[in-house]
Amino acid sequence: MYIGGEFVDSSDQAYIESINPASGELWTYIPKGEKEDVDRAFQAARRCYESEEWRGLSPTRRGRLLRKLAEAIEDNAEHLARIETQDNGKLYREMVTQLKMIPSWYEYYAGLADKVEGTVIPLDRQSVLNYTLREPLGVVACITPWNSPLLLATWKMAPALAAGNTIVLKPSEFTSASSLEFAEIFHEVGFPAGTLNVVTGYGHTVGDLISKHPLADKVAFTGGTETGRKVAINAASHLADVTLELGGKSPNIVFADANLDAAEAGVIAGIFAASGQTCIAGSRLFVERSIADSFVDRLVKRANEIRLGDPMQPDTQMGPAATPGQLKKIEDYVNIAINEGACVSAGGKRPSQPELSEGLYYHPTILTGVDNSMRICQEEVFGPVLCVIPFDSEEEVVKMANDTEFGLGAGIWTNDLKRSHRMARVIESGTVWINTYRASAYNSPFGGVKNSGLGRENGIEAIYDYMQMKSVWIEL
Ligand code: NAD
Repeated sequence: MYIGGEFVDSSDQAYIESINPASGELWTYIPKGEKEDVDRAFQAARRCYESEEWRGLSPTRRGRLLRKLAEAIEDNAEHLARIETQDNGKLYREMVTQLKMIPSWYEYYAGLADKVEGTVIPLDRQSVLNYTLREPLGVVACITPWNSPLLLATWKMAPALAAGNTIVLKPSEFTSASSLEFAEIFHEVGFPAGTLNVVTGYGHTVGDLISKHPLADKVAFTGGTETGRKVAINAASHLADVTLELGGKSPNIVFADANLDAAEAGVIAGIFAASGQTCIAGSRLFVERSIADSFVDRLVKRANEIRLGDPMQPDTQMGPAATPGQLKKIEDYVNIAINEGACVSAGGKRPSQPELSEGLYYHPTILTGVDNSMRICQEEVFGPVLCVIPFDSEEEVVKMANDTEFGLGAGIWTNDLKRSHRMARVIESGTVWINTYRASAYNSPFGGVKNSGLGRENGIEAIYDYMQMKSVWIEL
């Protein structure tokens, strides 16, 4: 682990095995952190914060170090991508693209660091000056999931560091290796000791301790909705600020007037990218009834053509599920759907090829004959399972799309400009994509409504979420 600028073992020298989900092979060991390690990490982060070695640097100099970090990540993008693919089974070429995007976040927030301004308040009394200062929060605890480990850590760490905070990061127990490797890169860049601390270990122990630690001034969390609720309750015990990026059950809505080639590609990528293990997976397809049968035929053909295999190979189109628990969850949900009356139009099973037998593979699956109230349409599977529901009118589809506890993303496919704006307003989600799906950027806000989250990441406002305002009064 990385604590106070040093690389250390866990206090009781215990380890967690990291398994490659494509081959079932054990490929590395991760320190299993305990309470003592969590305490040491927070003390190091707090010491660094109070010493002003980091927050006391001018914002321009903080920005300069973050730019150096961006360059170092760029130089190591392929190495880090390989580690993440070995841990979570996502396609190597996709992880390289993702890792190469990460420097933009550090560059963007490096550029914002010296543009954070306070204001002078125009009071009634001329004899008093009142102005505001924006100051960092202190120590930020970051807890991340296994599907995009370093990207999602970056969404938190880049604005938090630019604002002058120090960090305790806990990656998922399934994918901790890239965060530890990142710590080595961070160390080489030359940040003050304690600016970043990485503690690895299980969620129910280390994650729980981190989110309720009295020295955490903010907890920035990405993960499942149930875990997010626990994290929020923990943070509330000492009134720490929280940002929660949680689960989804996003609708993709295809009207008959849409460009159906584009819609087909968007729906397929929306659900089957990363084997459906993305928070924004477009897992509920609503398709206008007049084109439903022919559109589903097209999707089934495409799904059946997707090449499953080793995520390191350039011609593989879909890799395995990330963990045995995840694969079981997918299988269980498909069985529940079948028992509730769903028809399997594609997939619905594990592949039979012997070369895939050791990996956690599952066929891209399309379920028809479902309705929006079934569990498969209401609960997050986090796997390659698409549910198809036909609709007759705009009013009906809006009602069904919004009939969910979640509200992360939504796709709308139509060539009717007025309808696209109407839909964008009434769909309950943090992001609406029209005639596209999955786009995101460092300077565009991202987050969920309802049980998909609290707060936004990315964009200008995110840096303010890692700062607090002070009001200063001077009698002149
Ligand atoms: P998870 O909730 O199981 O784990 C997320 C993190 O929380 C891990 O580091 C884990 O160790 C930790 N954790 C587990 N129990 C904890 C506890 N009691 N207290 C504190 N921390 C604890 O999620 P996962 O399976 O790693 O990731 C998948 C989930 O993440 C999905 O629901 C997905 O939708 C969500 N996700 C959301 C976004 C988003 O931006 N909204 C992005 C990616 C993933």
